[in-house]
Amino acid sequence: MKKVTVKQDYIKKLKQQQNPLILEEAIVQPNKLAEGEIIALHTPQGDFLATAYTGRQNKGMGWVLTFKEGVSIDQAFFKQKLLTAISKRSSYYQAEETTAFRVFNGEGDGIGGLIIDYFDGYYVIQWYSEGIYAFKDWIIQVFDELADYQGIYEKKRFDTKGQYVEDDDFVKGTRGEFPLIVKENGMNYAVYLNDGAMVGIFLDQRDVRKALRDKYAKGKHVLNTFSYTGAFSVAAALGGAAKTTSVDLAKRSKSKTIEQFSVNGIDFEQQDIIVMDVFDYFKYAKRKNLQFDVVVLDPPSFARSKKRTFRTAKDYPELIENSIDLLEKNGVIIASTNTASFGMKKFKDMIHRGFQAKKKKYTILEEFSLPGDFTVNKHFKQGNYLKVLVIQVKD
Ligand code: SAH
Repeated sequence: MKKVTVKQDYIKKLKQQQNPLILEEAIVQPNKLAEGEIIALHTPQGDFLATAYTGRQNKGMGWVLTFKEGVSIDQAFFKQKLLTAISKRSSYYQAEETTAFRVFNGEGDGIGGLIIDYFDGYYVIQWYSEGIYAFKDWIIQVFDELADYQGIYEKKRFDTKGQYVEDDDFVKGTRGEFPLIVKENGMNYAVYLNDGAMVGIFLDQRDVRKALRDKYAKGKHVLNTFSYTGAFSVAAALGGAAKTTSVDLAKRSKSKTIEQFSVNGIDFEQQDIIVMDVFDYFKYAKRKNLQFDVVVLDPPSFARSKKRTFRTAKDYPELIENSIDLLEKNGVIIASTNTASFGMKKFKDMIHRGFQAKKKKYTILEEFSLPGDFTVNKHFKQGNYLKVLVIQVKD
């Protein structure tokens, strides 16, 4: 095993804080390391710190696999991590109402850079670096030994920005027929495992969709912004919403949203599905005096459209202000962000600023973070990225 020296300033991060991410600047001569190497990290004095693998992705250049000295990193080590993760999800495998969930959540399950989701018999493996991809055979073999899958697909997100490498994505087993209809708390969602980086649903919002359906939708008019395939709109409609309005600027979002409604037996013609920049829609809705009981805000962390660049950290208060303008009395905002660079406290500050600007009072009814299958590593705060607040305006 290659011995690698960690710079003095970064020892604390590894030793006391047990942060599993290895930054390029923490390593002496990082350029000497190839992808997919197992390395032993040491202090400049020669004391053992951790064993890691090299895999360059946007966040860093590799991940610690163990802080214990003398653990060998081999196929058995990987197998153990996977089997532990799988057995932790046994209640998910058994649940009949939910057939899509996360099986392996990167550093939360002990191997950063590796994400595995389950969609009703099919696994989708996301490889975040060439380094982790080097261990592909070991990982696939675990699923082969368990022998209870239909097929395996993969998403290569190699380049250093974590972007998706175009490919047909099928690895082995039986090819699926798409759309595959998965269940989530009894709702149907159409997914495509062979059609680009995103499959059609973000599993991390499961609890929020359920809350929207069960507690906030009945009889309401729901505006779903940044709606993608309309997953929140479907939940609202199934919860008895009087009407949903979905807004997304991607042209594909319209047919995708029609499909999600249709696989749930909802007449999409009774719903509004609008392809438009959300900020233009806000202006349009104000001009037309449209009002909503519930507004869902789930923007990407960063998005560039023709007219403007949206950055969560800077622009969230403006989203809140716009939503307040469109809300009925005692209306509810479901505000979500997946930006990893700040925590719940700062998110609450952003929300607060939006309300302050409109001189409105509010109550936070509920808070959500990642669901149980998205295991978090307590030493790696950025991994706990999802923050959702259900907020009621006080009139
Ligand atoms: N809320 C969705 C996920 C949103 S993904 C869900 O629960 O499934 C982010 C979406 O925002 C993408 O579909 C993208 O097309 C859309 N988007 C990005 N910038 C936008 C803008 N300015 N106006 C409207 N949609 C935008």
